Amino acid sequence: MATSLQSEQIEGDGSLLLIHGGAWDIPDAVMETHRDGLQEALDAGRASWEQNSALGIVTDTVAVLEAHTAFNAGHGAMLNQDGTAELDAGVMDGETLDYGAVMATQRLAHPVRVARRLLTEGEGRVRMLAGDGAERFAEAQGMDLVSNAELICPREQQRYDRVRAEAEADHPSRSFLPGLSNLGGADTVGAVARDDSGRLAAATSTGGTPFKPPGRVGDSPLPGAGFYADDRVAVSATGWGEAIAAVGLARSVQERVRTGASAEAAARRSLTRMHEQIASPDGEGATGGCIVVTPSDAAVAFTTPRMARGWYSAQTDVQWAV
Ligand code: ASP
Repeated sequence: MATSLQSEQIEGDGSLLLIHGGAWDIPDAVMETHRDGLQEALDAGRASWEQNSALGIVTDTVAVLEAHTAFNAGHGAMLNQDGTAELDAGVMDGETLDYGAVMATQRLAHPVRVARRLLTEGEGRVRMLAGDGAERFAEAQGMDLVSNAELICPREQQRYDRVRAEAEADHPSRSFLPGLSNLGGADTVGAVARDDSGRLAAATSTGGTPFKPPGRVGDSPLPGAGFYADDRVAVSATGWGEAIAAVGLARSVQERVRTGASAEAAARRSLTRMHEQIASPDGEGATGGCIVVTPSDAAVAFTTPRMARGWYSAQTDVQWAV
């Protein structure tokens, strides 16, 4: 199966922050807002550098992307079939292999911050919490909950109203409707970082796929699939969640790096393999993208038409591309 695979090696020795604002066919009309969001997040990441290790930097950066309505995460996320924002996020510390993840949450403005809190504060080393459990944990930690309405932006409400009307016309008697096979721009966010001491970390956050059935969880909060970090590599992925989970995309990049591939070669091969192995609902090979940082190099690769990404290092300063 032919894929249109694009990739880029990211320059920069020493500390490096690499972020993405999702893959897919990002329309020209939203390019500018994506650039603004990436810029804002990279500025926040740069500010976070002064006080934080890689783990804190990726958390702070993804929290800014969650707050920006350009992206499908936090405020501005795509809505599920009930018209509800249901959010997933995961974060991992490459030094300790500790991770935290939350999924199908409806009242967290910053799922990534709750995932980060779980990483160290989960009772009995609990690392993943879903729905109400994640929200109760956040509350017990003194973190603010929001109403679901506060997470919904007018653009996503309009998209939901349109898609819901079409789905009901096509499937009048079904209560559990099919999701959308054409994702358009489903702009999951993520960050990977290598800090001044060489530690690596990864974080990913998403509203999932548009018009997903309530309770659907994709790859984004699954360690080894939508994110992964150890002492050799940190990865954040985006794309068809069901396929990314099936192949363990982030972990498959790790294995290629571990056996000698560069960040760029590992990302390219893992995405190509996923495309060959798994079909997406539209019948084509499954597509996606990932950002990768290792102790010595970094890369972005994607098989979707576009991928919003940006990076910051002492040598390159802030840069981005969509
Ligand atoms: N991977 C996300 C999910 O399936 C969606 C995306 O990255 O666009 O939930």
